[in-house]
Amino acid sequence: MEKILIITGSSRGIGAATACLAAERGYAICVNYLHQKEAANSIVDAIEQIGGRAIAVAADVACEAEVTHLFNTVDEQLGKVSALVNNAGILEQQMRVENMDAARLNRVFATNITGSFLCAREAVKRMSTKHGGAGGAIVNISSAASRLGSPNEYIDYAASKGAIDALTIGLAKEVAEEGIRVNAVRPGFIDTDIHVSGGEPNRLERVKEFIPMKRGGQAIEVAKAILWLLSDEASYTTGSFIDVTGGK
Ligand code: NAP
Repeated sequence: MEKILIITGSSRGIGAATACLAAERGYAICVNYLHQKEAANSIVDAIEQIGGRAIAVAADVACEAEVTHLFNTVDEQLGKVSALVNNAGILEQQMRVENMDAARLNRVFATNITGSFLCAREAVKRMSTKHGGAGGAIVNISSAASRLGSPNEYIDYAASKGAIDALTIGLAKEVAEEGIRVNAVRPGFIDTDIHVSGGEPNRLERVKEFIPMKRGGQAIEVAKAILWLLSDEASYTTGSFIDVTGGK
């Protein structure tokens, strides 16, 4: 049976790499995005060119009504979701905690935490055997920041990823008997646009000497870990974490 996968924030970066790899492996894909419609459409085109099935759906994961719209659109246009990657995430300008205001904290927590909870909620409603579903798999994208804390950069972001770790552990136990596995990947320093938002596009050049493997990672290297956790190869793995960090 064809598996149907929603990847939040998959117009670019890790989400886009995961969408393309998952399509190669036979998943039908919902490419969710916030603003970059053309980028999302180009991922859909790439998937269709290899004979896959995909749709692009704009939805802000921090907005409850838009998350409901996202999942309803997938129900109507792709079929019942069997896999979710909670990937959409943001960070803001690097600064110390003493300079962070509530508006910034709320933006980061709304997208990274609330967004992941809302998407997990909609996925569980559809996947849980308790609700007549056929089971499924959820992979949350956390970060090595949840272990490292991101001092002088974005402790708010690191804290939001700590929340994702707790979501992963708790939800994995809550739905383990209902056919749903919940795991997380913790990427380290990956070469994507996210570092532009922090005000340091070349951040990987600065930090690579502190990474045991002496380089940043590529989005595809994260995608491969995500795909393993989604797959039946990981059938007895739930509440687990894979660090994709070059040893950091
Ligand atoms: P990215 O290149 O900045 O891409 C972010 C993606 O998320 C884009 O597709 C963007 O859509 C989407 N997005 C942002 N806010 C959204 C919202 N409110 N609703 C829906 N979609 C939204 O990011 P990335 O580096 O691939 O990061 C992906 C995930 O990995 C994030 O959770 C991030 O925290 C995590 N991570 C990244 C790194 C790293 O070094 N790159 C390390 C650890 C963890 P638009 O294109 O429409 O803007």
